[in-house]
Order: sequence, then structure tokens, then C-alpha cells
Amino acid sequence: MAIIKVQKGTKDILPPEMPLWHFMEDTARKIFTIYGAKEIRTPIFEATELFARGVGDTTDIVNKEMYTFEKSERSLTLRPENTAGVVRAFIENGMHRLSAPVKLWYKGPMFRYERPQAGRQRQFHQVGVEVFGIKQPTADAEVILMAVNYLKALGLNDLSVELNSLGCPKCREEFKTKLKSVIKPYLPELCPDCQARYEKNPLRLLDCKVEECKEIYAKPEIQQVIQSDFICEECAEHFNELKSYLDTLNINYSINKLLVRGLDYYNRTVFEIKSNNLGSQNAVCGGGRYDSLVKNLGGEDTPAVGFAMGMERLASLIGEKEDTRTTAFVVSNEPLEAIKLTEELRAKGISAEFDLTNKKFVKQLEKASKVAKYALILGEDELKLNQVTIKDLDTAEQKTISRRDVFDIIGVRL
Ligand code: ATP
Ligand code: MG
Repeated sequence: MAIIKVQKGTKDILPPEMPLWHFMEDTARKIFTIYGAKEIRTPIFEATELFARGVGDTTDIVNKEMYTFEKSERSLTLRPENTAGVVRAFIENGMHRLSAPVKLWYKGPMFRYERPQAGRQRQFHQVGVEVFGIKQPTADAEVILMAVNYLKALGLNDLSVELNSLGCPKCREEFKTKLKSVIKPYLPELCPDCQARYEKNPLRLLDCKVEECKEIYAKPEIQQVIQSDFICEECAEHFNELKSYLDTLNINYSINKLLVRGLDYYNRTVFEIKSNNLGSQNAVCGGGRYDSLVKNLGGEDTPAVGFAMGMERLASLIGEKEDTRTTAFVVSNEPLEAIKLTEELRAKGISAEFDLTNKKFVKQLEKASKVAKYALILGEDELKLNQVTIKDLDTAEQKTISRRDVFDIIGVRL
């Protein structure tokens, strides 16, 4: 019979990788809690309408990448990102009544129908933060700090923060008009996606990954418009304040005027954190301010700012797989003695196993060397003298010690 395989673009996360995932998750909880954020878990599927309105129907995500299905005449979608879901929960649970800022963090799987490649899957995981209720740039600064310090706590340093301001709907409108007029002569040469973006969402032109389009946007007269300071005075002040917070805190960043981000809802601050060690899929974190989203989704007018990080990309940067072996394997011809010691170890929080199949002593030792770091040998002599022989299965060194010292020695070496 044909074997049923895992779906294209999805992956099993197997036991040897689990310590790495626990590390990413535990560190997220630790760091975000320090900043006063609380965890939230929202459903994996939501009404399709939420993403169409929340993410924006001019985005790749909504146009091409959603897993949408019908059930009982309702159109449902597996979440492609989690900001829309968190905002829905914020509104539905009246969280605007809580004292601002309301800081939420989440982790979990997201689904996008994309062409699978290194660093790009159809089911992937994100960890993210959303901060509601603060319009001042202090919240933008805190959100960027949370991202940077989380990455630092993961031991990731070779990263760069890119920053831009998209202005507000008012000043952005002028910029869009200028951009369109300077790009217009090249319209026939642009890729089909860009031709559609030109009408629907011209800012997203700058986000195009097609070489020919990028070359066009690099032309001097277009660059002149892109590099111009189009944002209004208030937006500029907001941006400058944010920059001074980051300067004060020694957060390195660079301004990237091409940074527009894929989603429709951003205004003012947008940022991305890139790794210098990933290939073309090098963005590990994307975020920004979205002051109109809560209102657009039917809530009270509430400013907000947040980010999301791709956990698979973090995992590949953190790299090395941790040792998932059991700490101790008890080897003995006396199964009743073996189970007793094994349980004593477990009671002290030390992972331990023994041979469940009553194999010969030598076979048990072989098994131990496959699954454990240490063999704890209870031979005839050891049992008589209330001792244990500890064998380090990496170095083959061994010594016999008093049974009550076992826990300290193994515990310390955990
Ligand atoms: P990209 O430009 O790489 O497509 P994006 O703008 O679509 O990224 P966001 O929606 O901002 O990405 O998601 C935030 C982060 O989630 C990204 O920086 C990336 O690390 C991760 N991510 C996004 N899509 C995928 C995917 N299909 N597989 C794995 N990670 C992803
Ligand atoms: Mg994408």
C-alpha cells in the first residue's frame, strides 16, 4: 500500500528538535513577561472576512495564500497571521476597557499557501507581540526592544533592524500620487503583480521581489521620490522621537525607505529585523504600527503596534540540536532493584529508564549507550554494598560510589 506522506510545505517537528522549540517558547514567555505582556491563544481558524478586512484584500496573503474552506455555508480560513485574530479577541472581550497599554503575546502555527522553499513553509510558526492603546512612540520603542531582547536572549546577535515610517493616511496619499506619476511611464514593463499593485496599493510596488521591477525602481527619478521626506510634521515628530529612544538605548538600526511591509494596515512605524546568516528568506521579524485596524474591525478607536517572528527561521539560526538523551539508564539483572532506583531518580527530577524486557546485562548496556548519557549499574557487588557504578557513556569512564551520592552527582551534571 502506498505510504501517506506529510503534505508539501509542512513538517513534523520530531523529538530531537523539541528542546530547541521549548527554548524558543520558554524564552518568549520569560522575556515578554518581563515587559508586562500576557499570553493569548486564539483559534486557528476564523471567519474569512476577518482576514479580508483585517489583513487587506490587496495583499498577497489574502489574494493568493489563504487556506479557505466552507463549512455549514460559512467561509472559514486557517489563520495566515495572528494580528487580525488578536484584534478580534481584543474587541470581542472588551479589552479596550483595561488600563492601557494592553500587551499581548502569542505563539503558534500559521498557514499560507506559498511555494515551499528554504525558510518558507505552508504551515509555519510565529511568535508575536501586540501592544494596544498607546499612540506615543514609546510603545513603538518598547515593541522593538521586546523583539531585539528576545532575539538576544536566543543568542542571536548578527541581526540588523530596519526602520521606516509610512506616514499617516493623509501624507501617504500625496506620496502615492507622486510615486504613481513617476512610475507611470514604466507601467507596461512591470510584472503583472506590480501592474495590479499600481492601482490597488502603489506602496507595495516597493516590496516587489522581481529583479526587473527592482531595477526600474532603482532609477534616479523614482529613487528621488522614494527617498524624499514625504511624511507630515506630526508623523516626522513621532518618527524622530522613536529614533531618539532607540539611540538612547543603543539599539542599532538603519532607515530603509523601501520597507513598506506586506500587510495593508500599517501606518507610521514599520520595521523588519533581518539576519545576516539566512539566504534570501532573511527576514526573521516584521512589525509596525496599525492605528486604524481596531476601529476598522468594529472596535473602539485604539492605536496599536506589534510584530511577528518566524520561528522556523529562528530555529535555523539557533542551529545545533540539543542532546535529548535520557540522563540515566539503570542496568541490572534484578528488575525490581532497577525499577526502584529508576523511580527514585525520576522523583528527583532526573530523567531515567531501565530495561523493560529483561534482557541480558550486556544487551542492557548496549541499549543504555544508545539512549542515555549515563549507565547506572547495579551488579551483585553494588547491591550487596549499597553502591552504584556510574558509567559515562560518552567517555566510557566509570566509578563506583555510594548509592545515596548518585542523585547529587547525576543531578549536578544534568
Ligand atoms: P516574506 O517577505 O518573507 O514573505 P512576510 O512579509 O510575508 O515575509 P510577515 O507576514 O511579516 O512576513 O511574517 C513575519 C515573519 O514570519 C517573517 O519575517 C518570517 O520570518 C515569517 N514567515 C512569513 N511567512 C513564512 C513562511 N511561509 N514560512 C516560514 N516563515 C514565514
Ligand atoms: Mg510573505
